[in-house]
Amino acid sequence: MHGAKVYFYEKEVAGLYALAFLLLRAAAAWGAEPLPVVTTSTDLKSLVEAVGGERVRVESLAAPLQDPHAVEVKPGQLAMLKVAALLVRIGLDHEPWLGRALRTVGDSRFTRDSPHYLDTSKGIQLLQAETPRVRADKGAHLHGFGNTHYWLDPENSRPITAAIMAALLRLAPADRPYFEANRKRFLDQLDGRLKGWLQTIAPYKGTRVVAVHETWPYFAQRFGLTIVAVLEPNPGVPPSPSYLDSIIQKMRDSGIRLLIAEPYSNASAVRQVATQSGATAVTLIPSVSGDPGASDYLSLFDFNIKRLSQAARAAR
Ligand SMILES: [Zn+2]
Repeated sequence: MHGAKVYFYEKEVAGLYALAFLLLRAAAAWGAEPLPVVTTSTDLKSLVEAVGGERVRVESLAAPLQDPHAVEVKPGQLAMLKVAALLVRIGLDHEPWLGRALRTVGDSRFTRDSPHYLDTSKGIQLLQAETPRVRADKGAHLHGFGNTHYWLDPENSRPITAAIMAALLRLAPADRPYFEANRKRFLDQLDGRLKGWLQTIAPYKGTRVVAVHETWPYFAQRFGLTIVAVLEPNPGVPPSPSYLDSIIQKMRDSGIRLLIAEPYSNASAVRQVATQSGATAVTLIPSVSGDPGASDYLSLFDFNIKRLSQAARAAR
C-alpha cells in the first residue's frame, strides 16, 4: 500500500516535470518563431531577409516578373497580410493596388507611424521628383511624386536596410546584435561587389540608351548610362503610334544602339522599335528572382551588369 502511494507520488511529480518541460519548450519555440513579414516586392523581401536572417519569414505580394505597378493580390496573400507582423513597401505611388488589398484586410496596424508598417521611400533621394506629370487622366499614370524604382541604385540599399533594421528592432529589440551583424555583413558584401560592377561597366560609361518604362534612372545614374528617351512618356500609359515613330526617328538620327526592356514590357512594341531603329533590345531584370541568376539583391546587379555590358559590347 505504502509502496503504491510512493509510486503514485513519483508518477505525479514526473508528470508535473514533463508538463513544465513541455511548457518551457513551447515558450522557447514561441520566442524563436520567425516574424511573419510581407513585402510588396521581391527586392524588399531579399533585403528584409538580409537583415532579419532566421528571425524573419518573408513573403512578397508581387511576383518577380510582374509589372510592379499592376499586381493582383490573391486571397492567400490577403491571409498572409492578416497575420503579418510587418508590412514593408516601396511607397509613393509605386503600388496603386495595395490600398485596395489593405482595405479588404481591414487591419488598422498597416498605417503610417505604426510599428507594423514601413515605407522605405523615406530617406531616399528621389529622382524626377520635379518632373511634371500630366494630371488630366488622373490615376492612369505613375511616378507622380518622383521615380519609385529607387532600389535599382545599389547604394540605396544602405538607407533601405537601415529602415528595415529599425523596424525589426521595434518588434524584436532583443535581437539587436543579430540584426546588426547581418546588416554589416550585407553592406560589406555590397561594398566589394559594387567595386566589381563599376569596373565591369566602366568601358561603357556614357552609353546612350532608350528604355521602355522609367525603371532605370537610379541604375543609370549609378553606372553611368544616359537614358535619352523612354517609350512611355507617361509612366504606365501605353504610347501612341506617332510617339513611337518619333522615338524611332530620334534613335536613328542620334545612333542609339540599345533599347532596355523589362520582362513584362509590350513585346511587339519593343520588337517594332528595335527593328525599325536598328538598335539591340536587351531585357534587364528589375526585381530579384526574375531570373535564376538573380536570386538575391546583390546577384540582381551581378546579372544586370553582366547582361548590359555584353549587350553594349555587341551593339558597338
Ligand atoms: Zn514605374
